[in-house]
Amino acid sequence: MAGSPRVGVLALQGDVREHAALLAELGAEVALVRRPAELAAVAGLVIPGGESSVIDKLSRLFGMQEPIRDAIAGGMPVLGTCAGLILLADTVVDAIDGQESFGGLDVVVRRNAFGRQVESFEAELSVPALGGNPVKAAFIRGPVVESVGPGAETLAALPDGRVVAVEQGGLLGLSFHPEITGETRFHRRFLARVAAR
Ligand code: GLN
Repeated sequence: MAGSPRVGVLALQGDVREHAALLAELGAEVALVRRPAELAAVAGLVIPGGESSVIDKLSRLFGMQEPIRDAIAGGMPVLGTCAGLILLADTVVDAIDGQESFGGLDVVVRRNAFGRQVESFEAELSVPALGGNPVKAAFIRGPVVESVGPGAETLAALPDGRVVAVEQGGLLGLSFHPEITGETRFHRRFLARVAAR
């Protein structure tokens, strides 16, 4: 497709394929990103769900931490889901020893915040910024945004008030997995940010 944005999915660990398939379905040209040169060739990045401590470790092993931080500082749009949100957060609570994040979102997130009993559930979320129908959101050992700093904006919260979607400029962070419930609006929003740059 001519003029379609070329975007990457960080492909170190996690549900890479689901994001790549959804982005391709939406008309984007999709590349899997594991190396700095691959990052340099895309205009936006999705950080998938998975295990944030593993993605963090692998990103440092692959020399990707600094390039990703630079890209974020340079304004590259990034969509992070679940572990991806953890990696975008400036502060992570209940991280494993030595775990780092890329940062960029002025938020504090707590890993595995939904506890052991309820490791996985679906909820309908109202997301005014998206308009239209509520979002069907799948939570799989997801993080919660415990506090939102002045730089970031809340996009959605659960009925009990816990924040599960935030945005800051081109950075979009979700506690849940839109890519597995057929929800395309967050990915469209991400692609629109990429196209607008
Ligand atoms: N619990 C995972 C973590 O800490 C996130 C789970 C997910 O991405 N589905 O990274």
